Amino acid sequence: MTNDKHFESQVIHAGQSPEPVTGAVMPPIFLSSTYAQSSPGVHSGFEYTRSHNPTRYALERCIARLEGSQLTETDDASFGGFALSSGMAAVSTVLELLDSGDHVVAMDDLYGGTHRLFNKVKMRSAGLQFTYADLTKLDNLKAAVTEQTKLIWIETPTNPMLKLVDLHGVVEFAKDKGILLACDNTFATPALQHPLDIGFDIVMHSATKYLGGHSDVVAGILVTGDKELAERIRFVHNSAGPVLGPFDSYMVLRGIKTLALRMKQHCESAHNIATWLEGQKGVQKVIYPSLPSHPQHDIAQKQMLIDGTVAGGGMITFILEGGLEASKTFLENVSIFSLAESLGGVESLIEHPAIMTHASVEPNVRQSLGIDDGLIRISVGIEHCGDLIADLEHALSKCI
Ligand SMILES: *Cc1c(COP(=O)(O)O)cnc(C)c1O
Repeated sequence: MTNDKHFESQVIHAGQSPEPVTGAVMPPIFLSSTYAQSSPGVHSGFEYTRSHNPTRYALERCIARLEGSQLTETDDASFGGFALSSGMAAVSTVLELLDSGDHVVAMDDLYGGTHRLFNKVKMRSAGLQFTYADLTKLDNLKAAVTEQTKLIWIETPTNPMLKLVDLHGVVEFAKDKGILLACDNTFATPALQHPLDIGFDIVMHSATKYLGGHSDVVAGILVTGDKELAERIRFVHNSAGPVLGPFDSYMVLRGIKTLALRMKQHCESAHNIATWLEGQKGVQKVIYPSLPSHPQHDIAQKQMLIDGTVAGGGMITFILEGGLEASKTFLENVSIFSLAESLGGVESLIEHPAIMTHASVEPNVRQSLGIDDGLIRISVGIEHCGDLIADLEHALSKCI
């Protein structure tokens, strides 16, 4: 099935075909690490599972098509899609495409683990240089790029401030400069946002989040629509070996089948909750991309869309007036929302970035990014929206 079908059909059929021997409509979980050859070097395309695995291929081909790669099987065995052992393994694999001494420009409000990998690992082990800038303003990107810049790493929306970067603007500025453009598409997913179509070279996912969608698997994804780049990623994937196992590949593929349905519900409920929160006493500020009050609402209207209508995703960030004390009370008084890190699952989660997910970010950096002590992040699940609002209303009544 090609890319001309609607997204709801693509999530189920893209890159998929029945298993050739039995006709099974879902791929069997091929656990075998090795494959028999009929004569030395004569095999059916599978030799060793780090290099090729049919269950992993099924996932990789599916996500490759969803992200808009047009590569054929002759161009690349899995259409330019790659499944990795975690989101961080996916980020790391992109960095392995660079040479020692290369310069990377990245968004300032970056996923904490990505920031840690850049600054605490790759700077030392690979000699890479990193510059962080507020890329919501393209002038900051222009000022940060140097002759040595070989990669621009975009995250949009960011975590936890939900800042948006104008993907078209980045492409317009950086194309033909010999700089790789990569986008962490974890928050938006291909249900909303298509960086490859806009001109990005690589899309990355923590499939642990919305793609898996059920908080029961850790996985990463890379997709490129460029044949030569696919060859380079395949080489690193196989050489360094951060591949996703067959069982986890199956889990992510299974999750993706309902991605279209889930994302619609996540977005609808999150929009309703964000709108409701904005009118509540005790809430100082609400950050959500499809609200007109969002500082980059115009960018959301351009690049985060479901069926042509702006869709803000499933994450909401808000600040309580009472600071740390109020947020602790609030978090202790929710009951449907689980107080937990991570996001993107069917269940609603709530967390306190300054104490939990972003504790490793230095206090002064947190402050400059706006990660206030009263700042709360929620991952809106697909429970009944009325129940979620009632839960938040109850918790709010305890702290004002
Ligand atoms: C979770 C996350 C990652 C890291 O992915 P893991 O699967 O946890 O390794 C990277 N980027 C974003 C935006 C994330 O939310």
